[in-house]
Amino acid sequence: MNPITMQYLTDFSYIIAIALFVLSLKWLSSPATARRGVLAGEIGAAMAVVTTFFNPELVQFKWILIALLVGTMIGIPLGLVHMTAVPQRTAMSHAFGALAAALIGISEYYMRIPHITKFEMTEIALEVIIGSLSFTGSLIAAGKLQEILPQRPIVYKGQNLVSLSVLGASVLAALVLIFNPTAPFFFPGMVIISLLFGVLLVTPIGGADMPTVIALLNSYVGLTAALLGFVLNSKVLVVAGALDGSSGFILAVIMCKAMNRSFTNVIFGAFGQLQVSAKGEEEEKIVHTASPEEASAILGAANTVLIVPGYGMAVAQAQHKVRELFDVLSKKGVDVKFGIHPVAGRMPGHMNVLLAEADVPYDKLIEMDDANSEMPQIDVALIIGANDVTNPAAKTDQSSPIYGMPIIEVDNARTVMVIKRSLSPGFAGIDNPLFYLNKTLMLFGDAKSFVGGIVKDLTGGGE
Ligand code: NAP
Repeated sequence: MNPITMQYLTDFSYIIAIALFVLSLKWLSSPATARRGVLAGEIGAAMAVVTTFFNPELVQFKWILIALLVGTMIGIPLGLVHMTAVPQRTAMSHAFGALAAALIGISEYYMRIPHITKFEMTEIALEVIIGSLSFTGSLIAAGKLQEILPQRPIVYKGQNLVSLSVLGASVLAALVLIFNPTAPFFFPGMVIISLLFGVLLVTPIGGADMPTVIALLNSYVGLTAALLGFVLNSKVLVVAGALDGSSGFILAVIMCKAMNRSFTNVIFGAFGQLQVSAKGEEEEKIVHTASPEEASAILGAANTVLIVPGYGMAVAQAQHKVRELFDVLSKKGVDVKFGIHPVAGRMPGHMNVLLAEADVPYDKLIEMDDANSEMPQIDVALIIGANDVTNPAAKTDQSSPIYGMPIIEVDNARTVMVIKRSLSPGFAGIDNPLFYLNKTLMLFGDAKSFVGGIVKDLTGGGE
């Protein structure tokens, strides 16, 4: 084919891929269109990869095909992990993306020296620093979420000074390389120091903040990809990286807002350390409990029920039983809705994904602010495996680490029922005064079997 026609076709294909990436992000922002969004993103990525195969500068495909095979072999089992393991799986994907970008930057450096301009060296150094720190940072985040590494923040005196000095050292090495690209040992030194900085950056952050950290690392990896796009003169990579980087950043901002935290608080706050309560430890706290039969009698007699799902529903994989409960109550004429907290579960949209999987109608899902304004008219707020996102201490206890975090104010409903296995705290590691209110009934048990018990009772034992 004529090289000019070929160039036009390639550019056209890249433009379509970019348009698909933008549409994918747009569609991903609503549960109703999310599946379409995933498909659009996949088609866009496949188009971008296949089009790149037609680049005339590619002379041999052997190594690309080997990498494709290895990547596919790693990718398939990664795609099959349980929903509860998706945050750590995402962190692993970021780690691989960052590693790939850093390795390409490293090979570009060694292919280009000694004939490398100051501008090119700046691009490569930045790209390799951010790629390397995102690689190790993402690995540590995945390790914490998988509980291979301790979830508690690991902190020591003078830590911020040490971390910033390490970052300063890698920036210094980059500056030396910009003026003297062949300076011996500086390039590998810069890579090693950046890898170390990624470890130091994420280790002091608690497991509870890992999903936010992952969103931040996502934006770093996007930035790396965009920088790599400049290094390789690939417009599609610049745009895809910028979209990835900015969407990751926006997501991190949304998550910080939903938890009433700032970036500095997430990165330097050491949130999630064991809390020692200053008061009330010795107070006798009375807990009211109920059986599935008692719970079903209360639910069956209610006019309005608001279900608030949380991480425990995901762990128990109770979403299908919850859907059955929704069906049976709706059939009895009860108005059932779901109150969704933006950070319920362990990743943004966690509850939406689970409830969509169980075919709960989207229009029955209401956001936190709407749920709170309807709360005084709610007969029963049924909390299924949620804890922190309903904790009234966020409104009342100024000493609480979650003070100021917006919550679903279930304590304003007429009756509160909480399904969980014990009085153990949630991810923030703090007690929940909701469990000891007079209007609260604790329904102790695994979410799936307890909800199953309620459904069985409501349907007269014949599910
Ligand atoms: P949570 O506060 O972590 O509480 C979950 C509760 O589920 C636990 O207290 C646990 O109690 C219960 N549970 C576990 N397994 C269960 C089972 N099989 N059956 C029944 N209950 C079970 O969860 P959340 O209310 O959803 O709050 C999310 C937390 O994660 C917040 O602190 C939020 O800030 C944080 N976070 C979330 C995101 C995000 O993107 N979603 C991001 C960053 C941080 P038992 O052990 O007693 O059963």
